[in-house]
Amino acid sequence: MTKETISVFDILKIGVGPSSSHTLGPWRAAQRFIKQLEDQQLIDEVEQIQVLLYGSLAKTGKGHGTDIAVTLGIHGEDPVSIDVNTITPTMQTIKSEGKIRLNGLREIPFSFDDDIIFLFNESLDYHPNALTFQAFLRTGKAISETFFSIGGGFVVKENEEPNAGHHIDLPFPIENADELLGWCIRTGLKVSEVVLENETAWRPEEQTREQLLTIFKTMQECLYRGCHTEGTLPGGLSVVRRASKLNKRLLNGKTYHDYNSWIEAIRSGGNDFKYILDWVSCFALAVNEENAAFGRVVTAPTNGAAGVIPAVLHYYSVFHHDIEEEEVIQFMATAAEIGSIFKKGSTISAAMGGCQAEIGVSSSMAAAALTECMGGTQRQVLTAAEIAMEHHLGMTCDPIGGLVQIPCIERNTMGAIKAITASQLALQTDPEKAIVSLDNVVKTMWQTAQDMSSKYKETSDGGLAINIPLSLPEC
Ligand code: SF4
Repeated sequence: MTKETISVFDILKIGVGPSSSHTLGPWRAAQRFIKQLEDQQLIDEVEQIQVLLYGSLAKTGKGHGTDIAVTLGIHGEDPVSIDVNTITPTMQTIKSEGKIRLNGLREIPFSFDDDIIFLFNESLDYHPNALTFQAFLRTGKAISETFFSIGGGFVVKENEEPNAGHHIDLPFPIENADELLGWCIRTGLKVSEVVLENETAWRPEEQTREQLLTIFKTMQECLYRGCHTEGTLPGGLSVVRRASKLNKRLLNGKTYHDYNSWIEAIRSGGNDFKYILDWVSCFALAVNEENAAFGRVVTAPTNGAAGVIPAVLHYYSVFHHDIEEEEVIQFMATAAEIGSIFKKGSTISAAMGGCQAEIGVSSSMAAAALTECMGGTQRQVLTAAEIAMEHHLGMTCDPIGGLVQIPCIERNTMGAIKAITASQLALQTDPEKAIVSLDNVVKTMWQTAQDMSSKYKETSDGGLAINIPLSLPEC
């Protein structure tokens, strides 16, 4: 069987909040549909466009901004390049004028309320996150395509192989942790070095390094913005942003004028355990508050869990030593490889596996990456990934009001702390004596995902979502 090939940049992607599967994926699907119409030279024929949202996309699509994402995708906006400050005004114009511009080219009537249809009681078999685009042509003909948003921003068209068009021969093909370790042992390379070798199959190494540094810069900017933005998050839950308040309290009047002097100000506060703990929480909260506010984030491996990796990376760079570019690359490459092992052997979609697939995977990725940067062996890196996931098994996804806010934002703080603990434990462990392997835990996570009730898979039909009335802010 052909091995699935996943690049680092399939796992770590620059995008827009709040959700990779419910915002980024549907946005990409809309872009693909419009591109298809363009390629078939049908744009001038289209009189009306409708979007049908099924399953989890219908149930939590409002809170996750799925309707906004598909609208912007049809309108020709790109989630990577869009200025996030233009999202609200663009949407206001589309709604008030009742018109949309297909791929930015041709204006047609569009009702945001009526042309996006939420099919709350319908699900398609292949995946709970399904959506169908319909274009009605002036000839009376209709073109229809169904897509599945399978997690982490990945999109598959109906009847298309998940990896269609993506297969590429890698120097070190890897399907699971055991194979990764095998390559490490045979070559003597670190996990990150194996990954960078594989990435050369897609692009020159220099380009991979540059792109990884761009990802890091985007994480830094997001985290800094989140630590300096006050207010209430959109969506109706009245969740007040906490990162900026915590930032102020922890810095206690210290002055700074940019990211670098801010980091120096944080460092000057010392190394007390509680102080570090507060900062890790602050970093994670900051990213996910930005995510909840439709901000620019890095999907890692999803948007709901986007705060874990930047928080752990900042823990390392602020409280250990000034991180070198080489370590950033090492961190990102290792983290992404663990994410792709989970994607291949289990899932990174909450609609398939609950929150263990999001926060659990991101924590596992961060634990492995931190362990490699801290000088752990390849086996310790995999052990750290295993430990972090082992203690997220069974974690449900039950976002209140379908918003990526409660429990999501705080949950990133927990994922980050567990990653640091898992890394530390792995560094103190003889991995030869470990009883549970990373592959064992990947398999267990998948079995747990299959046994989990759909109430706990991003449907907001169970858990906190049904116990907290929408009008009551919880934290
Ligand atoms: S509960 Fe977890 S998986 Fe569900 S939306 Fe929130 S962060 Fe994502």
